[in-house]
Formats: sequence, structure tokens, C-alpha cells
Amino acid sequence: MGATVPRLRVTPQQASLAFFVAPHSGPVAAVTSTVIGMTTSASLPTGPEDAITGGGTVTDRLVEANERYAGAFTDPGMDARPVLRVAVVACMDARLDLHAALGLELGDCHTIRNAGGVVTDDVIRSLTISQRKLGTRSIVLIHHTGCGLEALTEDFRNELELEVGQRPAWAVESFRDVDQDVRQSMQRVRTSPFLLHTGDVRGFVFDVRTGLLREVDPA
Ligand SMILES: [Zn+2]
Repeated sequence: MGATVPRLRVTPQQASLAFFVAPHSGPVAAVTSTVIGMTTSASLPTGPEDAITGGGTVTDRLVEANERYAGAFTDPGMDARPVLRVAVVACMDARLDLHAALGLELGDCHTIRNAGGVVTDDVIRSLTISQRKLGTRSIVLIHHTGCGLEALTEDFRNELELEVGQRPAWAVESFRDVDQDVRQSMQRVRTSPFLLHTGDVRGFVFDVRTGLLREVDPA
């Protein structure tokens, strides 16, 4: 961990991650590094940041990439309604390339992502708008192996409160059994009073080692 944390430019979000990473060492470090990987990249070489970005900040690198993207971009003339009428809710994990993994093209779907792919009130907000205003009908939920939330407990909220003097209003939504967590997510979607279409809701676990999806039985 000592090789990883110092090279980060610490944003407020990262500071909160560093807070719970720092006290751990030994076997726990390998698990918590997955959490760091969700916001940076586990595959980045260690060393000065300039060696990673080729000079400038990470954001500078992204902006330069966008200029190249826009240079080759042609307006596909789409409207905002997803072509496949599907919304995908997934973990924000950096190893999960949703479009590539699911054979999705630009304009095909809504993607709603957060830490864990948890069906929070705000995910329900997005799904409600997706269905009622933008025509989606199907919902696909994707969790994955090796999720950073498996390394956390709700104690994280207590740790935050001790550090900053304010208890977060949100739950950590940590879990131990990924299948059960997918089932809970399906249940939250199916029981939402705001959603019009809950007949086609399916949940999966994405294996970050093989790239394969495994469907979770809703029962
Ligand atoms: Zn995850």
C-alpha cells in the first residue's frame, strides 16, 4: 500500500478512502487495494504521476483524448431514448467494461453505476425517469466478483463520523454474499412503486477474471 497511496493526488473522495486504507496492513491490504482500484486503476505502474500521464494531470490526459475522439466523431442523429429499451445498473468497478462485456453500442441503453451497483433511492430515481420518460422496459443488474464492498462493513460510517464529525446519511451497503446482494437488488426494483415495468428484471454476477456473466436465481 505504501507504494500506492503517496502517488495519488488526493481529492476529498480519495481522502475518505485513504482514511480506511491507512490503518490496515498485511492481508487486508490486498482487499482494500481493490477499493482504491475502483477510483484509480489497479494496473497503473507505481512511480511519479507524470510517468503515468505523460505530463500534466490525469484530467488533462482525458481532455486530450476527447479532442481526438471529437475529431473523428460524427453525429449519429439519435434521440435520448435507448435503442434496446434497457437500463443496466452496475458497480462502478474499473474492471467492468459494460458496453464491451454486453455487446452494447452507443445509444443502446442507460447505464447507472455506483459503488456496488446498489439499488439506492437515487438509482430508483434514475430508473423511474428511464422508464417513464425515456421508454426503457428491461432492467439488468450486474454485481461482480472481488467487489470492494465485500471488504467493508457498516463500521465505515462510524469511522467517517469519528474523522469528520458528521455521520453520513447513506448506508455503506456492504455485503458478504454477492448472490444474496443481487437478489436484494432485484427485490428492491420489483417492489418499487415508481417503476412501470418490473416483469423483465434479471440479475448477474460478472467474473472479473473470466469476463463471464453468471445469472442469479431470483428465488
Ligand atoms: Zn464492485
